[in-house]
Parts: sequence; structure tokens; C-alpha cells
Amino acid sequence: MPPMLSMSWGDEGGARTAVALRDEWAASSARIEGDRAPAICFDRSGRRWCATADEQGRVWLCALDRAGVMGERSLVAGALTDHAPSVVCWRDKLCVAIVDRDGALFLATGQDPTRLRFRGPASIAVASGPPSIAATCARLHIAFLGTDRRVYVGSSDDGRSIGYRAVSMPRRAASSPTLSAWGENIALCAIDDNGHVYTASSHEGVELALVRRGGAAITRSTPAIALHERTLHAMLLGTDRRLYRACASVGHPLDFSALPAFGEAESAPRLCCARDDEPVEPRRSRVVGALFVARDVDRTALRVGAAIALLDRHLQLARERYRRWLEDDTFALGDTVVVEAERSIDHYAGDGAWERVRDEVLASQADNADTSLCTYVILFARGKPTPEDCFGSAGPNHAEGSGAVIVELSSLFADAPYPFQSTLVHELGHAFGLPHVSAYGESMEQCESIMSYNPRHWTRGLSLPEPDATLLPEELLALGQNEVALPDFRFDPAKHNPSRRPLRTPRDE
Ligand SMILES: [Zn+2]
Repeated sequence: MPPMLSMSWGDEGGARTAVALRDEWAASSARIEGDRAPAICFDRSGRRWCATADEQGRVWLCALDRAGVMGERSLVAGALTDHAPSVVCWRDKLCVAIVDRDGALFLATGQDPTRLRFRGPASIAVASGPPSIAATCARLHIAFLGTDRRVYVGSSDDGRSIGYRAVSMPRRAASSPTLSAWGENIALCAIDDNGHVYTASSHEGVELALVRRGGAAITRSTPAIALHERTLHAMLLGTDRRLYRACASVGHPLDFSALPAFGEAESAPRLCCARDDEPVEPRRSRVVGALFVARDVDRTALRVGAAIALLDRHLQLARERYRRWLEDDTFALGDTVVVEAERSIDHYAGDGAWERVRDEVLASQADNADTSLCTYVILFARGKPTPEDCFGSAGPNHAEGSGAVIVELSSLFADAPYPFQSTLVHELGHAFGLPHVSAYGESMEQCESIMSYNPRHWTRGLSLPEPDATLLPEELLALGQNEVALPDFRFDPAKHNPSRRPLRTPRDE
């Protein structure tokens, strides 16, 4: 099966990207603000990431949606560059590499794109152009052009420091080399002053030697490459400003032909290949109802079927409300489960009760809080709890997109002491990572958000207030960052913060 390839390049208007599915270049190309040829990579869930450098030398990272439209940009602070950055996904982390203004290599590695920062330098200064970075299972690999015009490759086990060495090549290189990896193999590409293309490949970068594999005088910049199994895909910018592509088994000549679709280009293309051993659909967590029945609950009085049916109607309604607030996405729902608790009611009271209930529900589903893809809405079945012991609380788990809501079965039927539907959407907000509106300085009694206690928004059974409660732009921004619970929702400042007021960061409460 052909791989999914993504290309970015610059034309007279800026930078663009396109994706090839099944070898057909999709027309979903889109213009990107800023840099001429953004570096691109696929992450493990099949999303594309894009790294660019602006005129001040600052490096930015953002996700691209399927149409190639940029999400919010995050600054990768800590170092500046006059060259294009390079980006790759390595062990579930994003890794950005740059060569700074002194020629030293810097790496920024982490899971949270908003917190990436260059640390280092990861090497002493010898580079004279942009780096190219690729990841095998074990290592990060980097290629760059030395100030002596030799091609260097380096690798890192920790994403912090890089050891490097010169690669054998019969002539001096004319521009920065390009690198790609698949499994444990890496491939390297360079050109000489005559536009001849050289490639090399090896296991984990050991004993690389660049050998001439065709091309002559049709390009002045190194082809972009993407290795897929034993096949090397390559693209280049011709001296006639057309884009050319070639595809060959590793170690065989690359025979370039013009790509008709995209007109004239002004900067060399960048290329990346999705890992087809990973799911291309984004990972998505589910909200799962769980009726949690303490051991000493009177089973004859328990209306299990009615409880599950009513909970499902509330979950469907909550799902529909999130759909109205977010438009592009809402949470996925799984089937409600019944969990027979191991202990009696008294065990699930006092300090740590919330964690005890949550952990028992997770364990009953052979799940755990570090890797879970579920947010459990746990209905605690017992008699009428005292107000101090009454559950109505929630929080996220360590795993992104996962969390737990614990509410009382008695409140599902009685709509008291809290209105069940209002509480459900509020607690789901906490489970998705939202704080109370007071964290943004808003009034808990009067704010229009579901994350307040404003009684005007209280539901009665399954009927909603008119008008319904809403979400603050800050809350929409935070939900847009929950990429596992709501992978298709993107915060769009024009739509979600039309007044363009400065968004507040939440205070700890
Ligand atoms: Zn709350």
C-alpha cells in the first residue's frame, strides 16, 4: 500500500502544504502564514505538525488540520535561527531542531507543543545551514552541512546532546543534506555543485557513505526525502521552479519527473511520510457511564434498568449540548457498565473517597488512570447520602482525554440536591480539564458559563434553560487542546473570540 506523504513548499505568495493519499496528491493544499517552506511531520495519531521560523528568528510550532489550515501557533523559545527548523515525532514526543546564528545545534523535545523550549546547545558550532531531523525507534538522527561543506550526521539517545561525524562523499556538498527514517533504517540525501544527487542508507546511521544516484543540473537544493519501508520518495525544486518527484528502492538511481499539479515554487519542498504502523485516525477517548453499586446496597430497591436508561438520556443530551457549543466535535459515548463494588458504602466516604471509587471502576474495566481512553461518569448507588458525603465532583486523569465524574444515583432520579443535567455538563468540563470560571476572575454566581454555579442555568430533568449556558473563549481554547477527548475541535479565534479580547490564563484556586 502506498504511504501517506505530505509535502510543503513555498510559492510567490507564501508557504503551502499538500497531502498524497494512495499516491494521488490531494487538492487540499492550503496557504500557511509565515515561513517559506515549513518543516512538517506526522505524529503517531496521523496529525500533521508544522514548524516555521519568522523573520526575527523565532521558531513556531502548530498543528495542521486535514485541509492544511493552521491551528494556534506556539513559540518554541530558548534559541533563534536564521534557517528553517526541522520537526519530527519521536517516542510520542515532538522534537524540533534548529541551527542557531552561531552554527550550533539546538533541540526542543516534549509532549506538550505549548511548552517546548530549546535547551543546550546540543552540539558545538559547525553547521552552516538548516538541519534535517529523523527518528528511528531508538534514536534521533540529525544531518547538517558543515562550514567546511562536508555532510555531517549525528544522533541522540536522549533528545538533548548530539554526537556527530562527517559522512563520506566524493565531492563537497552544495546545500544542506536531508534525512529520513523508517523503522531502524535511515536514508540521507545530498547534492554537489553540479546538481548530482547522492544518497546513502544504513541501519541506525552506522557507516553511511553517500553515492551518486542520478540527477544533473536540474536543481540547486537537496531533494527532500521520505523513507517508507525500503522505498525512498524524493522531491526537489528544479532550476525551472517546477517541483519534481522520484521514487526508487533504497540504493537505486532516482529518476526525477515534473509534478504537474502545483505550478511554480520558490523554495525547496519538504516531505514527510505517515507511519502506517500507527493509526491514522486520531486517537479518541469515550465517555462511559458506570453504575457503581456498593456491596451493602439493597438490590431489590435498585432500579438498574431505569437508572441506565435515564443516565443514557442525560449523556446523550450532554453530548448534544457540547456539540452545540463546539460545533465541529463533541465527545464520543461508550456503553454504560454496571460495576459491583468490592466494599460497603462506608468505605467510599471521607478523605480519598473520590480516588477509591474511580480506581475501583478503572480496575473493574481492566483500565488504569495513566493510559485510559475513557472518562467514566460514575453513578454511585447507595441510599440518600448526607450532604457532606454527597459526590458531585470530577477531574482529569493523567492520560490525556481521560477523567472521571462521580455523581449520586439518588440525584439522577430526584434532580436534587443538584440538577443532574447541569451538574453533568459542568463535571464533564472538569474531567476535560476546565477549571471554575472564578479561575478567570468571573463570578461563580453570575457568569454565563457552565463552569459557574449560576442558578439561572439550572436544568429541570431533561429540560434546558432558555437561553442555555455557554462556554467562555478561554474554556473553548482549553477544550481545543484536549486532543484525545475532542480531536476534531479546533479553537478558532475569529469564531470563538470574535472581539479578539486578550484571553486570560487560569489562576490556581
Ligand atoms: Zn465544579
